[in-house]
Amino acid sequence: MKVVIAGAGAMGSRFGIMLHKGGNDVTLVDGWPAHVEAIRQNGVKANFNGEDIVENIPVVLQSEVSSADKKDLIILFTKAMQLDKMLQDIKPMIADHTKILCLLNGIGHEDTIEKYIPMENIFIGNTMWTAGLVGPGEVKLFGSGSVELQNLGDGQEDSAKELAGFLSESGLNAKYSDNIHYSIYRKACVNGTMNCLCSILDVNMAEFGATEPAHDMVVTVVKEFAAVAAHEGVELDIDEVVAHVESCFDPNTIGKHYPSMYQDLINNHRLTEIDYINGAVSRKGKKYGIPTPYCDLLTQLIHCKEDILGAK
Ligand code: NAD
Repeated sequence: MKVVIAGAGAMGSRFGIMLHKGGNDVTLVDGWPAHVEAIRQNGVKANFNGEDIVENIPVVLQSEVSSADKKDLIILFTKAMQLDKMLQDIKPMIADHTKILCLLNGIGHEDTIEKYIPMENIFIGNTMWTAGLVGPGEVKLFGSGSVELQNLGDGQEDSAKELAGFLSESGLNAKYSDNIHYSIYRKACVNGTMNCLCSILDVNMAEFGATEPAHDMVVTVVKEFAAVAAHEGVELDIDEVVAHVESCFDPNTIGKHYPSMYQDLINNHRLTEIDYINGAVSRKGKKYGIPTPYCDLLTQLIHCKEDILGAK
């Protein structure tokens, strides 16, 4: 199977390294010239569970993708706002049989992907693996994780199960889900509370959780996500999802962690995925006639912060 990782930042590098170590034909495609050059010169450097490794994986700048090399599987790992441009640039790699797996955080990426790929070849999912980018060509990979995925096209369940099996052969611990939209909305509730609130308030998750209004704010945001999800036939268990979100407050587990949006926006002045998390709920809410005032405000506040910090 010829595999492309489209978007080889932190997570793309993790999946690229694990699949390449698993003996697969992997190519990385990325749009950051300094990162691509560093990988070309020195391979992908990683601290992999405490051990320094180098994995020499072929890499292509996304503006230089050629039509000669069609691929069997493309795993998308851009940031959400980079997805459409990536799909345009990798079009030459897409054949009629090419499958696409999207593991980005956020909601509604299938609307972008289906402009480029027929529905029967699209698979979406959710991952609990994590990764951090240290600098061009270098990542930090700690801990374990898992992947859940499902087919979007009718009758493609066996292909989805095969794809999960393929990922698992390289240790990615993937399984088929028969309700992936539930998992995607459930994870989006974590991102739609912790990411934006910690970034706006300049606190870690435990510090936010220790504030008096935290619980009410989490419940209100989760209810907005749940109302929009319900309109799409996804019935979130609000109490369970709130408990899941609030488990992030525990300072003895991950509470002292600053969420990825904080690290991207506050530390590195990078644009955020807010339009695909709370912003997606706002847009869908307007379309479905469902009020989403907290998501509307949180989206605007993050955009204010992006402007104030000159995020790129
Ligand atoms: P990332 O920011 O590391 O990489 C995404 C893209 O941005 C890559 O093409 C990368 O080269 C580029 N990029 C990164 N830093 C850059 C810089 N300074 N200048 C120019 N370009 C730069 O993103 P990620 O963390 O790999 O996330 C990819 C997707 O996976 C997102 O949807 C994210 O929400 C999701 N996700 C991330 C994690 C995680 O632990 N990182 C976990 C689960 C899901």
